[in-house]
Amino acid sequence: MIKKVCVYCASSSKVNFQYVKTAEKLGEILAENNLELVYGAGSVGLMGVLADSALKKGGRVTGVIPRFMVEMEWQHDGLTELILTETMHERKLEMAKLADAVVALPGGFGTMEELLEIITWKQLGIHSLPIVIVNVNGYYNHLLAQFSQAADELFVRPKHLDMWRVVNDVDNVLEALNNEKIIHEDIRRFAKI
Ligand code: AMP
Repeated sequence: MIKKVCVYCASSSKVNFQYVKTAEKLGEILAENNLELVYGAGSVGLMGVLADSALKKGGRVTGVIPRFMVEMEWQHDGLTELILTETMHERKLEMAKLADAVVALPGGFGTMEELLEIITWKQLGIHSLPIVIVNVNGYYNHLLAQFSQAADELFVRPKHLDMWRVVNDVDNVLEALNNEKIIHEDIRRFAKI
């Protein structure tokens, strides 16, 4: 059963309002469905909007952030729980360990790297978390096309294109998470990383 959802999203505040509304809506949906948000603890950009909207609706929000970012005062100070890590790698591992499912909203290199890493870990059988990509405004069309090309050219096994679900609207995230096929039994082999 899904209780905690890890969300990857942009730290940029300069993005189109449609993306801001998407992050806000996802925060509301998680809180209204009693799902805890786990995210990178940022106070700005889509990260900040997402956390603020979940908190405003009474949701639980856990942020995981490396110490060097706290030294730069990038953390959100109003979270239910703030977990500090020594490195970026520990942060991403901790977020994955806490989560029962993963959602990627639009974002930059950080978000795309987090998404690719969690997909890679799933391919390696390190976890079986449901992964949903929110392709609002077709933001991830090119990345998804790249994934298909990788499979077409046999860099990726075609069956591995089934490791995530894509939704075009944030309203469909929960349904997609709940319908996502678990490839393996619920394994968590994070200790091996
Ligand atoms: P991006 O998609 O490139 O905006 O990166 C989002 C990810 O970058 C987050 O999960 C963090 O790892 C990191 N990040 C970048 N800037 C910040 C910030 N101001 N506060 C917190 N995390 C940040």
